[in-house]
Amino acid sequence: MKQKIKILVVDDDPNLRKTLADILRVKDYETAVAATGAEAIAASQQAAFSLALIDLKLPDMSGIEVMKKIKAVSPLTEAIILTGYASMDSAIEATKQGAYSYLLKPYQMDDLLQSIRHGVERQQAQDEILRLASFPRLHPNPVVELNAAGEVTYINPAAEKQFPDLGALEQAHPLLNELAGPITELRKSGKQTEISCEAMIDDATYELHVSYVRDVDLIRIYVTDITQRKRDEAEIHLLATTDSLTGIANRREFTRVLNGEMERAKRYGTPLSLAMYDIDYFKRVNDSFGHDAGDYVLQALTRLVQQNIRNNVDVVSRWGGEEFMLLMPQSNLAAAKIAADKLRQAIARFDFDKVGAITVSFGVTEFVMQDDINALLKRLDDALYQAKEHGRNRVEALAQSDAASGEIQHG
Ligand code: GH3
Ligand code: MG
Ligand code: MG
Repeated sequence: MKQKIKILVVDDDPNLRKTLADILRVKDYETAVAATGAEAIAASQQAAFSLALIDLKLPDMSGIEVMKKIKAVSPLTEAIILTGYASMDSAIEATKQGAYSYLLKPYQMDDLLQSIRHGVERQQAQDEILRLASFPRLHPNPVVELNAAGEVTYINPAAEKQFPDLGALEQAHPLLNELAGPITELRKSGKQTEISCEAMIDDATYELHVSYVRDVDLIRIYVTDITQRKRDEAEIHLLATTDSLTGIANRREFTRVLNGEMERAKRYGTPLSLAMYDIDYFKRVNDSFGHDAGDYVLQALTRLVQQNIRNNVDVVSRWGGEEFMLLMPQSNLAAAKIAADKLRQAIARFDFDKVGAITVSFGVTEFVMQDDINALLKRLDDALYQAKEHGRNRVEALAQSDAASGEIQHG
């Protein structure tokens, strides 16, 4: 897992370049070579070098300029300037501008190797300082680092505890598997240096902050376990959207769903119908059998309705007390009326524990383009009122045209 130290050799003399690169390779450094300043800058954009050996005189620009450009890409890269005696002033100037040191040609190989060792040590110390400064080892939450090759290079104690097999599995671990895409995106993006996402790992939900430290080509992942927060959010959502007695959508949630379905029906011209139903003489149930028996009837009725509607298509809601709503997407008035009557019969046949038989009245209507939610609900309410008026335990359907002609009759 330990990475080789990368050194960039920048010299326009092919013999010097090759000799130097060969020797460094034998000393177990990973080397890259560049013959010009432009090549050197391009190489530094491809990989982060611990150290660059730069010839002061290059065909396209000065070694000092190359050094500055490399440091602009990768500030922690150390530079050693190689120069002839005649340009010693420039070499000294280079150290003032940020070069680690300079060597006069012809140099002793031992001197060069010692300079390189010291330069690399300094680079690694700087890297460690940067890491420690921004990276609290004692961070209570897991922190994981990856190098440019995507290998895990650091796991803090909290991460070791939370993900014991991370070190062994590396990229195959669900955490890194989940993040493979986002990390690639982050590396590719020139601007973005941070992303956040959520991931499920072993039944727990994590909020992951992935930051890309471009200078040292490092990915750092902070992991926060948000399982409990997610559970709380889900519970709050449930409380806000459902009726606690029956477990179905409450009035507010139903209104939200209805508005959405109306939009959809308008856009695609698909039919949409609604039924509103109310228990007949429910007061008597409460009066004769008690409030708890009344509650039981509301729950049992809800279950019965749920068993007799289209799964995942129709939406049932408790609108208030013993009044319910049924949303039937893709159903026109005739189909909705048939569905409602099927429900009415199933309810009338049902034997409610201790209470016996109850009946329900239904109003049904179909959404039309010119409806707003108030007009639609008013028509539905009128239909239900008619069902009660006409004797209960029945379905009354009202089309928009009926409602309109009704208004004319009143006028
Ligand atoms: P109608 O056929 O005209 O609808 O007669 P009704 O007796 O059902 O009349 P109404 O709608 O006026 O009465 C509804 C009753 O439902 C009154 C109220 O006590 C009862 N109710 C409302 N919510 C609940 C509830 O959550 N639990 C119980 N047990 N009763 C409720
Ligand atoms: Mg009633
Ligand atoms: Mg009522």
